[in-house]
Amino acid sequence: MLAKRPAQTTLIRRLHAGIATDPPGDSMTSTSSLPRRPRWRSLALLALILAPLLWPLERLAEHYYRNELLSQNRQTLDLYVANLLGTLHRYETLPQILGDLPGLRATLANPQDSAAQNNANQLLMNISQQTGAEVIYLMAPNGDTLAASNWDKRDSFVGRNFAFRPYFSNAMAGNLGRFFGLGTTSAKRGYFFAAAVREGNTVIGVLVVKVDLDLTETLWGKTPEQLLVTDHNGVVILTSNPNWRFRATRPLSEEEKQAIVAIQPYPTRDPRPLQLDDNGWLTQTQHIDETGWSVSILAPKVLVSRPVRTVVAIGGATLLVVMLLLGIMMQRRRHYLDRINFEGKARRDLEVRVVERTADLEGLNRRLRQEVLEREHAQQELFRAQDELVQAGKLSALGTMSASISHELNQPLAAIRSYAENAEVLLDHQRTDDARGNLKLISELTGRMASIIAHLRAFARRDRHAPESVALQPALDDALALLAKRRRAMDVELIRDLPDATLWVQAGETRLRQVLGNLLANALDALTEKGPPRKLWISAEHNAEGVNLYIRDNGPGFSREALEHAREPFFTTKTRTQGLGLGLAICDTLMRALGGELLFANHPEGGALLTLRMRTGASGVSLQPPEDLSA
Ligand code: ADP
Repeated sequence: MLAKRPAQTTLIRRLHAGIATDPPGDSMTSTSSLPRRPRWRSLALLALILAPLLWPLERLAEHYYRNELLSQNRQTLDLYVANLLGTLHRYETLPQILGDLPGLRATLANPQDSAAQNNANQLLMNISQQTGAEVIYLMAPNGDTLAASNWDKRDSFVGRNFAFRPYFSNAMAGNLGRFFGLGTTSAKRGYFFAAAVREGNTVIGVLVVKVDLDLTETLWGKTPEQLLVTDHNGVVILTSNPNWRFRATRPLSEEEKQAIVAIQPYPTRDPRPLQLDDNGWLTQTQHIDETGWSVSILAPKVLVSRPVRTVVAIGGATLLVVMLLLGIMMQRRRHYLDRINFEGKARRDLEVRVVERTADLEGLNRRLRQEVLEREHAQQELFRAQDELVQAGKLSALGTMSASISHELNQPLAAIRSYAENAEVLLDHQRTDDARGNLKLISELTGRMASIIAHLRAFARRDRHAPESVALQPALDDALALLAKRRRAMDVELIRDLPDATLWVQAGETRLRQVLGNLLANALDALTEKGPPRKLWISAEHNAEGVNLYIRDNGPGFSREALEHAREPFFTTKTRTQGLGLGLAICDTLMRALGGELLFANHPEGGALLTLRMRTGASGVSLQPPEDLSA
């Protein structure tokens, strides 16, 4: 069983190693199938499906930015219109008020009076500087300019006739004359207000105030939005874009063209058409009723489309990022599922392997149990064989002893026969007392014979294996008794040195007798090889470890070879007596079986010294009192 253990532990170690390190056979295939490519194609498809979502986003952004721009430009437009009207209103009533000035009336009353004219010129110049009007001038009812604020300039209006201008005719008709036009001498744009100067119900002259409108244009500044002011003809009169100035935003009718030629409001008599791309501009218009003008703000549509494009781009990028995150999440999820599958499979593989290994171990255990049974059986066989051997050894010893035993028995038999014959004669002679004495002797002799036979039986019978407590001295006496005849014949001196108290040892009754008989017989055998004096020492001692019995003879002692091999069965050196070579082998086995030991050596003074070491037995009662067979 022990011999199998390393194999078993190796198997267990391999099993653990296999569990710990062996990758499952087909796990490689599942590992290789792990890194699957992400499903980018399906992601792209999803992106394509989601892409139309950008359209509402674009519409929303466009709506928002358009409204933002419109509301912002609406405010700008309102502001501009208010500014323009404010400028005009400032001067609207000026001609009427100025018409009441006595200095001007004096000139109208006497146009030839140069002093009055100078006075009027000076007055108008002062008022023009104070009010910010470009030019203020006074006309006679025939349209001649009598005095003007710019009387001292190169392009002075004084002496010039503007009867063709509609504002003059309007004013003469008693209305407020209004007119937009280019100055005929200055070629500067301006808005003209004209009012009649009355003397009672008679119109004695007309006072005109020209307002500079260039300023309202330059106010606009450099913004992407463009300003466009058209008059009642649809001709651009004020604009932030110089290329559009005095161009017609709509086709002019013949009538209108003729009027333009007649009153010359523009530098050209035939304004070129202006084609504006409706798709390029976002237009907001406000109409000014009192002047008949339309003020428009044109915002380039790119102001809307640009931020919309940015929003759509951001939306697209966000969608892309979301797709990407989604893709990564999907991939991670797939990896996670794959890992779970892989681990599940590895676990199942492991379980299968554990089951296999367990089955292997169980098989191994079965074999081990079988082997143990076989070994136990073999051991029993061995015990039995050893038993047989011991028995054989005993029978062998009996064989060698039979001659002396038959002699031993023959002697009393002969004596019995002789006593019996003698008793017959004594009875014939009526000597009954003597005959009785003979019969008593016969009885004693038969007792002695029975004792010899009892010793033989005790020696020959099989013993129980369990050790028991045996008295050493009686057993020794028994063994000596069996050999007493031979010892006496050889004239061997027995020197006993045994304690009086019975020595109890752990042994088997028969087995101990067998060992002692063997050792004593060997001593006698050895002494036969030597001349007298022949001596046999038997001593014993009791110490803490047990009981030691020493048997020494003064024979030739053990040869060197015998010392090495005497324990081996069938080793013998005996020539004169037939030895089987089993004696010491059996004694050694028996002693070890009893927990003792047999030591043999040569005594320093010659001869063999055998030591029997035995365990101390519990003291008991000796059932067999020693009996001297030689008596
Ligand atoms: P056997 O007596 O049949 O030879 P044993 O096993 O009893 O077998 O003895 C083995 C041998 O040991 C003997 O042949 C002898 O050589 C030697 N031997 C045993 N006892 C003695 C002794 N007392 N003195 C010398 N030699 C001995």
